[in-house]
Amino acid sequence: MCCDEFAISLIIRDFLSIRHAEPKANLYYNLAIFKGIFCSLHYDPMNGNIIINNASQLVTCSGFRAKQGKSMSDLHVIDHGAVVIEKGIITAVGKTEDVLAGSDKTGFETIDATGKAVLPGFVDSHTHFVFDGYRAEEFSWRLCGEDYMKIMERGGGIVSTVGATRKASREELIESGRKRLDSMLSFGVTTVEGKSGYGLDEETEIKQLEVMEALDRMHAVDIVRTFLGAHAVPTDFKGREEQYIDYMTDIVMPLVARKKLAEFCDIFCEKDVFSLEQSRRLLLKAKELGFKLKIHADEIFPLGGAELSADLGAVSADHLLHASDNAIAKMAKGGVIATLLPGTAFSLREPYARGRYIIDQGCAVALATDFNPGSCFSESIPLIFALATLSMEITIEEAITALTINGAAAVDRADRIGSLDAGKIGDVVILEFPSYKFIPYHVGVSCVEKVIKNGILVYDKQNKNSR
Ligand SMILES: [Zn+2]
Repeated sequence: MCCDEFAISLIIRDFLSIRHAEPKANLYYNLAIFKGIFCSLHYDPMNGNIIINNASQLVTCSGFRAKQGKSMSDLHVIDHGAVVIEKGIITAVGKTEDVLAGSDKTGFETIDATGKAVLPGFVDSHTHFVFDGYRAEEFSWRLCGEDYMKIMERGGGIVSTVGATRKASREELIESGRKRLDSMLSFGVTTVEGKSGYGLDEETEIKQLEVMEALDRMHAVDIVRTFLGAHAVPTDFKGREEQYIDYMTDIVMPLVARKKLAEFCDIFCEKDVFSLEQSRRLLLKAKELGFKLKIHADEIFPLGGAELSADLGAVSADHLLHASDNAIAKMAKGGVIATLLPGTAFSLREPYARGRYIIDQGCAVALATDFNPGSCFSESIPLIFALATLSMEITIEEAITALTINGAAAVDRADRIGSLDAGKIGDVVILEFPSYKFIPYHVGVSCVEKVIKNGILVYDKQNKNSR
């Protein structure tokens, strides 16, 4: 952050105007300006007004809702394309010559994307990025063949992260969270979903969500908050799972709702964690309180969480390594997004979810990192592209859809982000290469050269200080 005093005074002015903003578009603009000044290298009166032209490929991913099955292959690529962003919102998309014909470019910054592919910002729709308590030792034990029970006995597992996160101050969590968001941004992520779930008590669950709220205000990357109080059974509730669910539904969840700290509610529905019935009970209460629903479903054991997601009208069911054929058919019919997390299967050396089959059955698939300190300590988007295309029989086009418009749908924002369409927020990624096919081809390496958030350049590989 490199704000001078002038910029800081503008931040304060614009922050105040956010609070008094009336129309929604105006709010987006104010947020764009606020976040842009906060995160970009210097204040520029053209902030939010930008034209990106001459792109060898403008990969629009055009659409305003999730793409299911075959339609996941439609990227709507425009050769020699251009996109115009005005006050943070996309106003024109098309061939460069058509878009620029007769348009007044005064007050616009221009980026020449000759020889480069341009895409919507990526949406990482499943992460646990706010935590303290790394588990590198545990990772090494796992590589030596120790099972989860043995690891728990040695003081590892989620309990260790919960202990450290409870002890961590807000400032410490903000500082580590900010660095992780910086890294995500460098991979082209412009919106991320983040879950609580390392507190498992009222105080820390609220703390994690408030930290995400603060980070959302101060960082270019937008954060969608999910309440995951039912991530695990804390030690003091062992054997009293029903009472823990009561504690969550009667005390913590209503407080989260009252404070408007989370938009989604999620649960780890898994054998020996929370049963199908407990999951149904918690999610029904969440729905009643106005939360949208997500489920960690059928990751280790085919318990039926995926079917439950369709029964309850969840926005997404995530993991799905052991989801049944029947569950996948129900999810396709019900429009539940299947969020696949190959980084976790890779890190745990488990078989991948059946990506090809799930798409062929007509589901809308999203891909996400599941960034967390235990089962997948990676926020790498290049890793996800590599695993999806090389190990899950997902095509490059489908993988891009899964990380853009379908990722947006998995956080219920397909109307606002996830594609380059007029009216959407100006979140754009510019690659170093002329084709989107370089993303998995340049395996494991980020091809992202620039990231534009709300029409403002917030990351530039050439100038690492730009965010
Ligand atoms: Zn997760």
